[in-house]
Amino acid sequence: MSEDKKVKHVLGLSGGKDSAALAVYMARNYPELDIEYFFTDTGKELPEVYDFLERLEIQLRKPIKHINSGKDFDYWLAQHNNYLPAGQQRWCTIRMKLEPFEKWIRPFLDQGYEVISYVGIRADEPWRDGYRPNESQKDLTIKMPFAEDGIKKQGVFDILESAGLGLPKYYDWRSRSGCTFCFFQRKIEWVRLRERHPEAFEEAKSYEKRAETSENGETFFWMGPNEPLETLEDPERVAQIKANHQKVIERFEKKKKRERKRRLGMHAMVDETMLIDTLDMDAMYDLEEGGGACITCYK
Ligand code: SF4
Repeated sequence: MSEDKKVKHVLGLSGGKDSAALAVYMARNYPELDIEYFFTDTGKELPEVYDFLERLEIQLRKPIKHINSGKDFDYWLAQHNNYLPAGQQRWCTIRMKLEPFEKWIRPFLDQGYEVISYVGIRADEPWRDGYRPNESQKDLTIKMPFAEDGIKKQGVFDILESAGLGLPKYYDWRSRSGCTFCFFQRKIEWVRLRERHPEAFEEAKSYEKRAETSENGETFFWMGPNEPLETLEDPERVAQIKANHQKVIERFEKKKKRERKRRLGMHAMVDETMLIDTLDMDAMYDLEEGGGACITCYK
C-alpha cells in the first residue's frame, strides 16, 4: 500500500454482542480512525436488534448506516423460484447481506481506496475469514482486532458492560441475531418466538408450504421436514420441547462442572453461576459457536 493511499474503515454490526463490543473497542482504542459503522438490514430482523443498535449509536456518538438490497424478502424469494432459504441454499445471506455490502464498498474500491473491514472474531474462537474478498476486491482487507489483541468472550461482556450497553435483549430468549424466521433457530427458539413475537411467528408460518399446494412443488417447514410450525400450537408438543431443552441444559451444566473440577482439582467450588442457555446454546448442542450461521448474520 502506498503511503498516500486513501483508506476507508468499515465495521459491520449484526445486532450481536461481538460486533457491538468491537465497535465500542475500536472507538475507544483507535479514536483516530474514522470508522463507518453499518448494518445490513434484511427487513426481517428482530425488534430487539433495532433497539440495541439505537443504544449503540448513542454510545458511539455516530450514526450506524443501514444498508440493504433495495428489494424485500418476497422479491428475492420470487427470484429463487419460491424456494425458501435453508442451510444448503442460503441465498438470503448472499442476496440480502453480502451483496448489499459489496455494492456499498464498490465505489470506494473503484476510486482507489483500500477498504479495511473490521470483524468481531474473538481470540477464543477458531480462526475464520469473516468475509473472503474476491479477485476484484484485492484492496479489501479484513482485520480481526479481538483475535489479534487476545480479547475473549469475557472481554466482550466486560466491554459491553463498561459501556452501559449490556447484552442485546434477544439473548433473554434466543441465541443469535438475524431474521425472525431464521432457519438456524432451534425448536426451543421457535417456541419462544411464538411467545415473544406472535406476529413474527405467524408470518413465518405463512411462508411454510406443502407440495400439493405450493407453486413449485416444494414442501417446506422451517423446523425441519416433518414438523410444521403449527405443531407449536399444541401445548403438549411445546411442553415436550421445553422439557427436552431443560435436559440439555442440565447435561451441559454437569459437563461444565466436571470440566471445572478437573481443571481446579477435586476441592474446587463447582457451583459457580454459569452463563448458560442462550449464550452457550451452541455448545450445549455440541456445535461450534454460530451453529453454521454466517458471521454476517449473527456475530
Ligand atoms: S439471519 Fe438466517 S434467514 Fe436471515 S439472512 Fe441470515 S441466515 Fe438468512
